[in-house]
Amino acid sequence: MPRPKNQVRRNLLKTIGAGALATTLAGCAPMVASSTKYERAYSRKPWVAPRISMDNVIRSIVGHRPYRPSGFVVRSEQYDDKTVVHNYGHGGGGISLSWGSSALAVRETLGMQPGEVAVIGSGIMGLTSARLLQDAGWKVSIYTRNVARHTTSNVAAGEWGPFSVHDPDVSSAAFKSQLNWAARVAHHAFTNLGGADYGIRWLEGYFMRDTPLDSSEEDGEFADLYPYSAILGPGEHPFASPYARRIVTMQFDPGTLLRRLVEDFQIADGRFVIRNFADRDDVLSLTEPVIFNCTGLGAAKLFDDNELTPAKGQLVFLPPDPAIDYMTFGGGQGQLYMFPRSDVLLLGGTFKLGDYSTHVEDDETARIVSEHQKFFSDFGES
Ligand SMILES: Cc1cc2nc3c(=O)[nH]c(=O)nc-3n(C[C@H](O)[C@H](O)[C@H](O)COP(=O)(O)OP(=O)(O)OC[C@H]3O[C@@H](n4cnc5c(N)ncnc54)[C@H](O)[C@@H]3O)c2cc1C
Repeated sequence: MPRPKNQVRRNLLKTIGAGALATTLAGCAPMVASSTKYERAYSRKPWVAPRISMDNVIRSIVGHRPYRPSGFVVRSEQYDDKTVVHNYGHGGGGISLSWGSSALAVRETLGMQPGEVAVIGSGIMGLTSARLLQDAGWKVSIYTRNVARHTTSNVAAGEWGPFSVHDPDVSSAAFKSQLNWAARVAHHAFTNLGGADYGIRWLEGYFMRDTPLDSSEEDGEFADLYPYSAILGPGEHPFASPYARRIVTMQFDPGTLLRRLVEDFQIADGRFVIRNFADRDDVLSLTEPVIFNCTGLGAAKLFDDNELTPAKGQLVFLPPDPAIDYMTFGGGQGQLYMFPRSDVLLLGGTFKLGDYSTHVEDDETARIVSEHQKFFSDFGES
């Protein structure tokens, strides 16, 4: 039987003496790199470095971003008496774009009399489409192979950033303007949801750079959506990188967000049906006259979309660390990011186009961990 804690403590004191104990405990104190040398523009807390080691890895996970170089698909198609509204292919920015892209999709029903509608897919696109359809008076059934917590949407790292969504050299001007509209509507919708209740919080994010950059390079289009933006030079930030571009943006805990959307859907009388569709004819056999196709990567097979391709991403989870209240991007070999979510301290990542494999790659886990360890080992010294 385990002994009560205070008895263990008394025995320990007797054995080694109080003075020796104090010395011993001081020696065991975890080393946490921190700094008050640099100002925080947004957070008022001191800088603290995350504790990263292979010993603390809980698990690694893999997901496949549904990527299309020409961008995501929102349009309707008529098959005899059925209307199919497509809403898929959002690459690495589907959570960020969700409400906006789904608003575009629901706009395709303008002029129709609300009645029964089928939504296929219970990832972020299926759930946000379903919620907007309910708001517009439709009676919605979601048909899905996987429940929300087993979708790619639940693998998302969780930054609000509508990026890695298309190849700007391939996508059309019309798509770029659609992307811009969807991103802005989605941003607005997320700020309207009530923050922590939906797993949303605002955080500083730092993009590591070797040279100072014009902020328009990556996200100039959305610069007005990023408060506290600045490019920090040597001596102005604690990172082991000469320059760091600061933004403040939303971060999501996908598990909480999806769970809340499922609850909202059910409260509004929504119905889930578990079903795996084999092909387009199977989809068209549904009785509902209007069908939303929110199947992410699944649309490649169901609707013969040859442009849709997976971008395999791997994430490494460590226990959550409430002391960390900023995100980092870059700072070492390969794609790197660190997000302090409330459920895990998350390290990413990879972006492997065309790779359908579902296994975790141990060498990528080792790289992601060791590159972050190296990066944070000089924390506060810059
Ligand atoms: C590692 C990683 C990190 C990411 N980080 C971010 C981020 O920080 N920010 C961000 O905005 N985005 C991020 N993303 C991208 C985001 O996760 C996706 O763009 C988004 O989840 C796509 O949502 P979806 O609803 O279209 O697809 P999914 O979530 O894949 O949902 C598709 C649904 O369709 C169903 N389905 C598919 N085929 C069939 C079928 N034949 N029959 C029945 N049902 C079917 C599935 O079961 C599922 O319910 C990340 C993705 C990955 C993998």
